[in-house]
Formats: sequence, C-alpha cells, structure tokens
Amino acid sequence: MPAASIIACAVCRFALGFGDGLERFEFRQAHMGSTIEIVLYTTDASIARRASDAAFARIHQLDLALSDYNPESELSRLCEKAGGPPVAVSKDLFDVLKQSLAMADRSGGAFDPTIGPVVRLWRRARRDNKLPDPTVLDRARKRVDYRNVVLDESARAVALKAPGIKLDLGGIAKGYAAQAARDELARLGVSRALVAVAGDIVVGDAPPGKPGWRIAIARVANPNSPPKRFLILNNAAVSTSGDAERFVEIGGKRYSHIVDPRTGLGVVDRCGVTIVAKTGAIADSLATAVYVLGPEAGRKLVDQIDGAAGLIARSTPNGEQVFESLEWKNVKSVNE
Ligand code: AMP
Ligand code: MG
Repeated sequence: MPAASIIACAVCRFALGFGDGLERFEFRQAHMGSTIEIVLYTTDASIARRASDAAFARIHQLDLALSDYNPESELSRLCEKAGGPPVAVSKDLFDVLKQSLAMADRSGGAFDPTIGPVVRLWRRARRDNKLPDPTVLDRARKRVDYRNVVLDESARAVALKAPGIKLDLGGIAKGYAAQAARDELARLGVSRALVAVAGDIVVGDAPPGKPGWRIAIARVANPNSPPKRFLILNNAAVSTSGDAERFVEIGGKRYSHIVDPRTGLGVVDRCGVTIVAKTGAIADSLATAVYVLGPEAGRKLVDQIDGAAGLIARSTPNGEQVFESLEWKNVKSVNE
C-alpha cells in the first residue's frame, strides 16, 4: 500500500510576538480522500513540525484501518469474514464501530454503518448519471442492518452476523480522525490547535489572545459565496453534512451521497446541518444522522445527545429556513 500522497506541506509563520512567544503554524496534507489542515500555536518551528508530523501519521494510520475504498484496509478484511466467527480487531476499529453502533441506536437506524452495499450503488449512479435499478437497490437495502454487527468488548472482537455485510464508516471516520489528531497534538504539548478533515473540525484551546477559533458556516443555497456567520469555539468538535458537494441530479431531482437506510434512496432534502459536540466522532455521526432524519426529527435527536447543539438550514424557493436545537443558543457565534 503506497503512502498517502502529500500534496502540500507548508509551514507559515505569521505575526510574531503573541503572548508567551507563541507563533502560528499551518500544515496541509492529503489523507482520507481529503485535504487535512492543521493550524497550531507553539514556540518554535521544530516543535510544530514534530507535532504535526505525528498528527498526520495518526490520521494515515486510521485511514489504513478504516477506509472502505482500500481493499487492504482492516475494515475491508473484516467484511470479507462476514457471516463467520468473531474477528479480533484493532482498538481504533473497535472504538469507531462501538461509537457507530451507539449513534445507529440513538438515531433509530438513520445512521447505519452497514450502509455500504447501498452507498456503492449510489456511487455508481453518480458516475453513470443513472439511478440504481430498483430490484438491485432493494436487494442491497436488505443487507443493511447495524444490529447484525455484534461487539465483544472483553475479546475486542467483532462478529458480522450475516454474509454480505459491507461496513462504511464514511459518516464518522473523518470526525474520529480529526479528534485523534488533536489528541495526539495535545499529548505532545500543543494544546492550541485546530484539525480540519474536510467538513469535520476539532479544536483545542483558543489561539492566544482570542476567545476561540473562528469557524465559518457555509450557506446552503450558495456554499461558495463568502460566509456571513462564524462560530467561536474551543475544546469542541464541529461537523457539517449536506448535499452541497456530493450529489447526483437525475430527472430534475438531486440525490445526496447520504442515503436513507429505510428507503435506500439518496436524501433529496436540500439541507445543511452543522453540529457542535464534545468529540469529533459524535459531531460527525450526528450530522449525518440529522441530515437523514430531516430538520424536525433531527433537531430532537440533537437535544438528546449530551453536550451537542445543531443548526439545520433548509434551502427553499423563498430562502433559507433555519431550525435550531435547544442548545444552539449557547454556541458562541458572530455575524459579519
Ligand atoms: P458525512 O459527509 O459525514 O455526512 O458522511 C457521508 C458518508 O457517510 C457517505 O459518503 C457514506 O460513505 C456514508 N453514509 C451515507 N449514508 C449513511 C447513513 N445513512 N448512515 C451512515 N453513513 C452513511
Ligand atoms: Mg458525518
């Protein structure tokens, strides 16, 4: 397996003279099919380089374990054993599966890590610009059921109870990886840091002299227009889900890459979901679940998750309709 390609790796020093001699450094690398960005504050370039290298290495390690695109990943090898006896797995794979099943349970199966067979059909639909065949889709949908994934905590083993199970951790792995990278930076003494894995961001302590990290919220109707709203966060995770980037438009309908496990269809609601939560894995999986459930049921789910807050913006012909979870009012933000 070739090492993940590094598209760019820049060290930038901006203003000198933050309190305590802290300087700002930024790094970018490509992993998990995305550009990963790390921003951190520390006293010198060698500490910054060492810490960010370790954080990227951690993300690379997670990609090797969790990717469903890579047939050699630990996840793919586990799926080859579906229908067989339990398989001992790494701590990371066990942890992500455990958190995936927890979100599957909380969301009544709106988030389902066994969605793989259906997602594959929609990936093909995007490529061919053609809806999946209904009979084939129905057959794939019947292979989706998170209750067929059984964990044995004491043996750190996983049993996939039916043949044909295909795990897909695309709705949680980036948030989990962003958190793991931030934790690695903190372990190496760099606590003022931000890790962004595409739309999944985890932040540590605030930049020097600032109340928090400024995180832009893109607008649903026009995601490329300059953002107007910014969250101010520290020691938190924020994830977004929606149809803004990956979708297929067929017969005038726009189907998202996020699939409703109940119907097997790509979600058609034009929504953008932003979730703030305690960890990257919770924020990421909750954002995906809320997008599947839609604004009303979605915000009720957010209200049930300790330490989580959500903003759901639905694009309508009359503009954006906004739904907030109860805790959203306590999330610091500024409008510009
Ligand atoms: P996100 O961008 O975090 O919302 O994750 C989207 C990815 O999650 C998709 O590309 C699929 O790999 C996967 N996915 C799609 N639908 C679901 C679902 N209902 N439950 C869990 N994962 C899903
Ligand atoms: Mg997600």
